[in-house]
Amino acid sequence: MTNEYDVIVIGAGTGGYVAAIRAAQLGLKTAVVEKQKALGGTCLLWGCIPTKALLEHAHALKIIRNAKEWGVTLGPDARVGIDMAQVHSRKDRIVGGLTKGVEFLFKKNKIDWIKGTARLTGGGTVEVFEGERQTLKARREIIVATGSQPRSVPGIVVDHQRIITSDEAIHLKDVPKSLAIMGSGAVGVEFASIFNRFGSQVTILELLPRLVPVEDEAVSAELAKSFRKQGITAHTGARVTAARAAADHVAIDAVLADGSTLSLTTDYLLVATGRGPVTAGLNAEQVGLQMEKGYIRVDTLYRTSVPGISAIGDVITMGTPHPQLAHVSSAEGILVAERIAGHAVTPINYDHVPGCTYCDPEIGSVGLTEHEARARGFDVVIGTFPFGVLGRAKMAGETEGFVKIVADRRYDELLGVHMIGPRSTELVAEATLALRTETTVEELIRTIHAHPTMAEAVGEAAHATHGAAIHS
Ligand code: FAD
Repeated sequence: MTNEYDVIVIGAGTGGYVAAIRAAQLGLKTAVVEKQKALGGTCLLWGCIPTKALLEHAHALKIIRNAKEWGVTLGPDARVGIDMAQVHSRKDRIVGGLTKGVEFLFKKNKIDWIKGTARLTGGGTVEVFEGERQTLKARREIIVATGSQPRSVPGIVVDHQRIITSDEAIHLKDVPKSLAIMGSGAVGVEFASIFNRFGSQVTILELLPRLVPVEDEAVSAELAKSFRKQGITAHTGARVTAARAAADHVAIDAVLADGSTLSLTTDYLLVATGRGPVTAGLNAEQVGLQMEKGYIRVDTLYRTSVPGISAIGDVITMGTPHPQLAHVSSAEGILVAERIAGHAVTPINYDHVPGCTYCDPEIGSVGLTEHEARARGFDVVIGTFPFGVLGRAKMAGETEGFVKIVADRRYDELLGVHMIGPRSTELVAEATLALRTETTVEELIRTIHAHPTMAEAVGEAAHATHGAAIHS
């Protein structure tokens, strides 16, 4: 028997499950095929949620280590350590609660979760060939949201024991004495912050000339300064040439920026060099989907080359680099569901996608970097304000970093906001709304920022853009 639905979603990550909920809200009979035992995909199971839970533990440890500064007394045995069993148990409770929450939302919205692995079989059909085997028919649309998985680089073989990816790093039972991290994108620097705080000796090996290479150059420089202070070793312009795993260590060879060689032995090598699409076994090419390097090619409304099949999230490409972020996949999922339901939709402006990196200090950014703005020919003006002079930052004991505004002098147009420092991953929300609503710098200046807050740094950076910061 073929079960018919209006919409069939393959994959229940933040793209797929959000698309399904929105489709169901709009009256479309919806099923989701998901092969994992829990809903939520990378973000909930191996990504955003478990890593940020670990970071909160690292933050708690930092505060307790500084107990004296805070006037907190610890009793006779003042030794402070980390109990990884408790860390994992709390993290797993959080993950479990959230995945169950998605299950509840599926029930509430009458979405069928078909447990199994799906492949496309053409003519609007999907075959579930592992798990609850059956054939499903989509009356309106199939949405492919199969996501991504860790990817290594040629010559470096992940053995999942000593040469690991983020999937294993979130489960490490003990704190490694030493950890090398290949790649300093969001995943790399977040794990560097976690394990440095837990007590590991962390070495970052980044091929490009600076840390967090997609961020504004000033942000990269500030992070490098902070990591140095915290005792994290970071080699930029460093190419890992070999990694050999043994039973209890990894031997790593690298060529550094100055041409010298580095040989390093660490407990683990975490390969954080990016993620590739999950399309193996999906039958994508066979049903006629246009592919690019394994990614599914879509247009600006997420239509593939085959009518009746859309794709969203980490698995897609539009021909230019596509941000692999949970909130991007969700926004795409909502847009696709609304399009299928017949709503008028407009393409997402990817210049307005906020990026958050939860290293210590945190990074939040949206819009054009200074370099990008100059390259696009804007008459660039910059305003920067340091967190260090803010009362709220002093109270929190987190005085590193700044807010940097990139604007166009001609029309006072806000082009980008880049911040590194306390609560930056929250503060970026204001900047995102400002960009979305095409706010000028003047309007940001006239927006009253409450005192004492970290958000004052955003207002002050706007003042600084007009050469009139009050407190610096
Ligand atoms: P996924 O979440 O990968 O979901 C795809 C789902 O499809 C999976 O559940 C998979 O099991 C299922 N699937 C695949 N093939 C099939 C099939 N054939 N049949 C049935 N089911 C199938 N993003 C942020 O925005 N903020 C963060 O802080 C953040 N932190 C991260 C930290 C780490 C360590 C990692 C790895 C990623 C992080 N991300 C973060 C990225 C974010 O997790 C992804 O961008 C997001 O999960 C992509 O969602 P998706 O729905 O496209 O795919």
